[in-house]
Amino acid sequence: MDAQTAPQKAVSGIAKTRVTAIPGDGIGPEVVGAVQRILAAAGAQIDWEEAEAGAAVFKRGIGSGAPQETLDSIARNRIVLKGPLETPVDYGEKSANVTLRKFFELYGNIRPVRELPGIRTPFSGRGIDMVIVRENVEDLYTGIEHMQTAGAAQCLKLITEPGSERILRLAAALTLAEGRKKLTCATKANIMKLTEGMMKRVFERIMPDYPAIEPAHMIIDNCAHQMVIAPEQFDVVVATNMNGDIISDLAAGLVGGLGVAPSSNIGDHAAMFEAVHGSAPQIAGRDLANPTALLLSAIMMLRHIGDFAAAEKVEQALLVTLEEGRNLTGDIARKGQGVGTTAYTDQVIANLGRTSAHASRAYKPLTLPDWPRGVWHQAPKAREVTGLDVFIETGTAPAELAAALQAAAEGTGLGLKMIENRGVQVWPALSGQPFLVDLFRCRFLLAEPAENADADIAKLMAAIGAKHTWMHVEKLQRFDGKDGYTKAQGEN
Ligand code: NAD
Repeated sequence: MDAQTAPQKAVSGIAKTRVTAIPGDGIGPEVVGAVQRILAAAGAQIDWEEAEAGAAVFKRGIGSGAPQETLDSIARNRIVLKGPLETPVDYGEKSANVTLRKFFELYGNIRPVRELPGIRTPFSGRGIDMVIVRENVEDLYTGIEHMQTAGAAQCLKLITEPGSERILRLAAALTLAEGRKKLTCATKANIMKLTEGMMKRVFERIMPDYPAIEPAHMIIDNCAHQMVIAPEQFDVVVATNMNGDIISDLAAGLVGGLGVAPSSNIGDHAAMFEAVHGSAPQIAGRDLANPTALLLSAIMMLRHIGDFAAAEKVEQALLVTLEEGRNLTGDIARKGQGVGTTAYTDQVIANLGRTSAHASRAYKPLTLPDWPRGVWHQAPKAREVTGLDVFIETGTAPAELAAALQAAAEGTGLGLKMIENRGVQVWPALSGQPFLVDLFRCRFLLAEPAENADADIAKLMAAIGAKHTWMHVEKLQRFDGKDGYTKAQGEN
């Protein structure tokens, strides 16, 4: 933890850490209450400040699901323990979870995945013990989507260099803090060379700064495959948002599922700890919920705020409880032997001070770099415009469209190079037989690259707009001599 994420301490009495507690929806209040009870019994020095978010807030007409007082509480305390929040389907606009993650720029989603004693799975005995670090704010989750034609939708996959560097350095810092050895960066850089490739390139650039860590790169689909056939090979895995979302759920499934999966969301200004599971409305208010996932999240929180002793005490009590298999909740107990949330919580409290057969890992504080404030901007040494991609809606055949566009481009300084449909060049025609939809990307190149081609581009767009329906354009640029765009399948 760095100075920026340092929580606020209470001013009087023993130094307590003030933490915002959001009970949340469904089983949330039960599991949050259980965890608060265990932490108090373990002597964790926490001063809870309760705050509201979720369904009741949406119903009051607050579209973000989190009222200003809750946002203020988090901004003040910087540490949050959160119960699950229902994402309303028929009222409210956004997910309150996403609001909190985005509002506080909680860019790092950390999901430890390890085999727990007493939780039987097809992978028991394999020694699974890994952490998935998922980028939490960029990628397809920026939610920038547009209908291009009435039948073609597009989502923007936005990956930035500082966004990649931040998550990769967090993953490296975590590898060191947990005494781990290997960091695997899993990407789809073979297909998405600029976006997923950005993550891979930044990984290769920064890893020499961490000589104690063994770096590895793996293609994400192979990573999913390897996680099932040889999960014990993984130590820390880092991925972009969407890929990380999928592989972290896959990994959780190897060790018992979402019910025992904890997580933290880390940012420069706040950290939020929550179970991966949802509000389980079917069992809410019935003393049936398993608080283990949130308890594991709270243990992560204790380590984050530097209370390593309380974290270990609670972790050991939990492990003893699971090892002995007495008084477990119905979802993890032997058939017919399950007890309620309250009795399970009492059992963990009774086991405080005992030592499990499974030693806790030796954790060190997480040290994160201090990122500069303000707008990140990196001007290239040289920047040239080479042309323009214009996305056009038409039911016209490619050859006919090409003839019309060549005529439109006359005298504009740009010439039609190729037309593609869903990534495959269709003019000049290749030998394949692509299925065509009404969305064509038409690539125009300047005779010579130019520092500024706006006048030529405006002339071309006026000519195209007079006869065609276009949706958007992308400037083709070269940064420091390198093309800042990819080629279509089949394009020379
Ligand atoms: P869920 O995780 O709530 O439930 C899936 C299944 O797991 C259900 O059978 C449920 O009973 C069981 N389960 C979950 N947690 C449990 C626990 N602690 N103990 C025992 N059993 C447990 O997923 P869902 O039904 O898809 O979602 C319900 C609501 O939760 C939705 O509104 C969804 O948007 C929300 N949700 C919130 C979060 C979050 O706040 N981070 C995450 C996921 C889903």
